[in-house]
Amino acid sequence: MALLNSSPRIAIIGAGIIGLSGAYELAVRRGARVSIYDTRSPGRGASWAAAGMLAPAFEAADEPGQHPRFFELCLQGAAAWPDFANELSARSGLDIGFSRVPCLAAATGSSEETRLGRIAARLTAARIEHSALTAQDILRREPALTPEVISGLELPSDLRVNNRQVVDALISALRACPKVRFVPGPAPLRSAAGQLRLEGHDVILGAAGWETAVIKVEVRGQLFNLVNWETALDDIESYGGQMLSVADGAGAPKHVVRAGHVYLVPRDGRVVIGATVEPDRVIDEPDDVAIEALRLEAVQLCPGLADAPVLERWAGVRPGTPDHAPFIGGTRTPGLFVAAGHFRNGILLAPVTARIIADQILGKEAGELAAAFSLRRAYTATA
Ligand SMILES: Cc1cc2nc3c(=O)[nH]c(=O)nc-3n(C[C@H](O)[C@H](O)[C@H](O)COP(=O)(O)OP(=O)(O)OC[C@H]3O[C@@H](n4cnc5c(N)ncnc54)[C@H](O)[C@@H]3O)c2cc1C
Repeated sequence: MALLNSSPRIAIIGAGIIGLSGAYELAVRRGARVSIYDTRSPGRGASWAAAGMLAPAFEAADEPGQHPRFFELCLQGAAAWPDFANELSARSGLDIGFSRVPCLAAATGSSEETRLGRIAARLTAARIEHSALTAQDILRREPALTPEVISGLELPSDLRVNNRQVVDALISALRACPKVRFVPGPAPLRSAAGQLRLEGHDVILGAAGWETAVIKVEVRGQLFNLVNWETALDDIESYGGQMLSVADGAGAPKHVVRAGHVYLVPRDGRVVIGATVEPDRVIDEPDDVAIEALRLEAVQLCPGLADAPVLERWAGVRPGTPDHAPFIGGTRTPGLFVAAGHFRNGILLAPVTARIIADQILGKEAGELAAAFSLRRAYTATA
């Protein structure tokens, strides 16, 4: 959906990593005028709650039920990160904790070992660097791991960043850009004569994470949800996630370590431990039982963490879709674009999403892969 106006005024609804990196691409890199609306504090939604793993291999090389081209999109996301990280740090003057230390995936049982074998096969087919590790190899690399580990993979494709520092760096770079305006509160969207309008703007980008479907639109004094205009948004579901961090110490891992659904991420002198995945849940406060269960799983993996004090516990809400892949692109409603539904990989996918959505809003060719993540697949499913 290309625009005739070569210098559109763009309203972005939602200042999570997706809205912020879209604003960065559009305003800072390409000189467009952007207003960013958020009903809460910018950057404090799922993008704050995340662990910051940039993990195309572990997350997408072998995930049942996902979009058939999701792995490719994740690889593009990972490829975009080094330049994005360098540029963002330089522009904001802030460290964003981008680390090239490879992730270690550990198997402590035969089903996980089989899954790691499938991941390795997919990486080999795609010619992506990785190493199969014996128990001795992985323990040599990461002595904090339990001796019960039976094998593993070293994944140089799977890196990490400090997502909290990234959103702060984006906000700082955007506040310094004269083309950008942060507007606290809801965007005053209206619909009249069948047209969705936001006074003073030519384009609207819905990027409100799991709440994108319920962005409000006023019609003759009454408020309705955006999903009434774009039914595809009904596919975006909430997936609660709980996490904790414990103090770093002699028994703490130096790598991101993944084993089944548990992961450990060294960050800022702490170890972040995640995460639960709870479909259809919006969690405000973490609960003691879930947090203690996660902590014990982490201790099984790294016994040296047994006495590490818990420093923080938190919860967030992932925006999921039926095929676990985001919606990125124009909609059937003129002037309305969407970038939402990034589920477990919104940090990884932020720079590539920003590039795709900016191309589409500015009427540039976004590439063949981008088209596969448009909302068209949801229209087809509901037709
Ligand atoms: C526990 C957990 C761990 C995760 N770990 C990782 C990881 O390691 N790596 C990874 O890549 N991804 C991870 N994710 C996923 C990632 O965090 C999300 O995919 C990503 O943050 C989604 O970004 P977003 O900008 O779409 O949403 P959000 O960050 O939730 O931002 C949405 C924004 O929209 C605002 N908003 C809502 N409604 C409105 C409205 N009506 N008007 C204006 N503003 C509105 C909200 O206030 C919020 O600021 C994790 C998520 C969770 C919960």
